[in-house]
Amino acid sequence: MSNTQSKIEQINVTPEHQKINPEHQKALLERFLRYTAIDTQSENDVDRYPSTEKQKVLGEILVQELKDLGLSDASMDSYGYVTATLKGNVPSVPAIGFIAHLDTAPDVSGENVKAIVHENYRGGEIRFSGAPELGLSPEDCSALADCVGEDIITSDGTTLLGGDDKAGIAAIMTAVEMLGELDLPRGDIRIAFTPDEEVGRGTEFFDTERFGVRYAYTVDGGMKGELSAETFNANTAIVTIGGINIHPGKAKDVMVNAIQVLGDFLKKLPRELTPQETEDREGFIHPVSVEGGVDKVVVKMILRDFDLEGLTKQKAILEEAIAATKVLYPRAKLDLEIKESYRNMRLHLEKDPRVVQFALDAMEEAGLTPVSLPIRGGTDGAELSRKGVLTPNLFYGGSNFHSFTEWVSLQQMCQASEVLVRLARIWAERGKK
Ligand SMILES: [Zn+2]
Repeated sequence: MSNTQSKIEQINVTPEHQKINPEHQKALLERFLRYTAIDTQSENDVDRYPSTEKQKVLGEILVQELKDLGLSDASMDSYGYVTATLKGNVPSVPAIGFIAHLDTAPDVSGENVKAIVHENYRGGEIRFSGAPELGLSPEDCSALADCVGEDIITSDGTTLLGGDDKAGIAAIMTAVEMLGELDLPRGDIRIAFTPDEEVGRGTEFFDTERFGVRYAYTVDGGMKGELSAETFNANTAIVTIGGINIHPGKAKDVMVNAIQVLGDFLKKLPRELTPQETEDREGFIHPVSVEGGVDKVVVKMILRDFDLEGLTKQKAILEEAIAATKVLYPRAKLDLEIKESYRNMRLHLEKDPRVVQFALDAMEEAGLTPVSLPIRGGTDGAELSRKGVLTPNLFYGGSNFHSFTEWVSLQQMCQASEVLVRLARIWAERGKK
């Protein structure tokens, strides 16, 4: 019998043992309210890192709280990354990481957030004291229909709530507290709270080597049981159109206006392949910017699909549209350049299926029905997975993020904590190096 095995058997593990109790729930709610009261909005298009200093205010508080929970190595670096280790009690099992982000989206104000707890939600519309015109109902947000009897938390309607991702932080902190008390078998648990996720820079200075884990989980969005192990494959297409400019008074039979060429080119792209016409697993071609004038136009498009063949098809569509436009404007020059942006995280996660499987098992153990949902966008986990830290995303139990009607369910945040606790134990039992 290995050391690991004997240690696991010494520890009394019962299903009840790992359930979240009312004190933990109370502590989780207090944490969540404490974190949402701090403005941590990030900012687009700035040179500094983190984009806003105020994110570090929450970072400092978390360092102190982690220390209070016994994680003596808790610290924040100059970029604003908070890291800490909950020491394991079983040798030779892999360390795993729990990750959430500190910042809130630039889209909606995060200043002076007043979180409101709507206890024991009875169904129907939730009203906002600070914004009488606003309502939140199951008709607009179907996930709310599943939350009857739960405590729903919103802002007062004048700001976002910041559940994205302070619910993730609160769930992780509570899991750390529970793991510290329960003495379940576990390897080292590494914690990271990261700045600037919402402005697409969450992993820019993240030191994966120092973090030192091969398996991690972001806790960043989704309703109970949701797991995301897939993102889009993403390319950028740049079409450069060369026209011929001349004084408009002398333009007859000479001028080729690149702007008009662009108009005809765009008309040849399939309408049904736009973001506004697609959902679920469908990909799209999305023109995002245009620069230029009569003699030259450069249009940038983002290409997205869950399968690489989909991206190949999109390239063929662009080539066909270019060929057809050239027929209309034989003297115009049209060039296509494709650049790789990021790849579906599934391609990396498949290298070790346990990272997803154990999460699904932990959710089932906690009485949830796991659902695997693809993310129609990027995530920090995709970038981390590319860098060798395999990182699917787990739910925290909320919806409508980046908006005035953002909400979370307290009971589902608790379930997120419970899933993390079980996950730590499952890795210790079945994740031998
Ligand atoms: Zn988020």
